[in-house]
Amino acid sequence: MTDNTLNLDGTLRLSLMGGQARAFLTQSTRMVQDARSIHRLSRVATAALGRLLTGASMMGCMLKDERDSLTAMIKGGGPLGTLMAVARADGTVKGYVDNPDVELPLRADGKLDVGGAVGRDGQLTVIKDLGLREPYVGRVNLRSGEIGEDLAMYFTASEQTPSLVSLGVLVGESVVAAGGLIIQVMPDCSEAALKSIELSAPMFMNISKTFSEYGLNGALEQLLGHLEPEILSTARPAYHCDCCRDRFERGLIALGREELTKLIDEDHGAEVNCHFCNRTYRFSEQQLRDLLRRAQT
Ligand SMILES: [Zn+2]
Repeated sequence: MTDNTLNLDGTLRLSLMGGQARAFLTQSTRMVQDARSIHRLSRVATAALGRLLTGASMMGCMLKDERDSLTAMIKGGGPLGTLMAVARADGTVKGYVDNPDVELPLRADGKLDVGGAVGRDGQLTVIKDLGLREPYVGRVNLRSGEIGEDLAMYFTASEQTPSLVSLGVLVGESVVAAGGLIIQVMPDCSEAALKSIELSAPMFMNISKTFSEYGLNGALEQLLGHLEPEILSTARPAYHCDCCRDRFERGLIALGREELTKLIDEDHGAEVNCHFCNRTYRFSEQQLRDLLRRAQT
């Protein structure tokens, strides 16, 4: 295998042990590196947002309809502030963190202190827009702020689906490897199958290292080879922002006449920044006057 295929991002949707469990295995190295470049993330912010984006991407792949979307938001009270990830059914994601340049000392075991940076005093909220009148909202208290454990808690408490979640980002000068695994037990899972999964859990602890050494297909063999994996479908995780000028125009119109007039008279224009991709949209005085006219009709 060449280095090239080792580094290729991908998601595998799997059936385990003849359908007694299902799994999502994703390599997201490039996706997390893109997030790091766009937001100029510190190492610990890369690990934290990278884990959330990777988890959200896999959860996006669980959505039924390509128009559906999923938002995962963590407010943990730590120095990073709020972390946000939005995923779509094709595995693409976008996200941001309030304070991207926070850096903390390494933990005693030499690992990045993601839990300390995220904080443990707060909640994980998952919002699913399934095209219905009301979105589905699930919320759980954070367990560790390490994100994998918190998502597992969400699946168990909010969706009544016992799940094992492992997320990892290995950061050096750039992102060396990133990836994740979610295993969900089906209601008819036997005791023996459950035991096999539980016994395997320690192997999933250092998932980013597994990806850095073996790539996606090698990781499949290493991590799940003994659980009779069967690939049901594949997806390509990627960082993608779907913002457009039109959306920001509508946002400005929604500010109302008074605010728009103020922007015209006092600032003689406006600059709006997309939180997800850092693109800046500029509006001249004349363009704002056009929007003001539209706001009045
Ligand atoms: Zn954008």
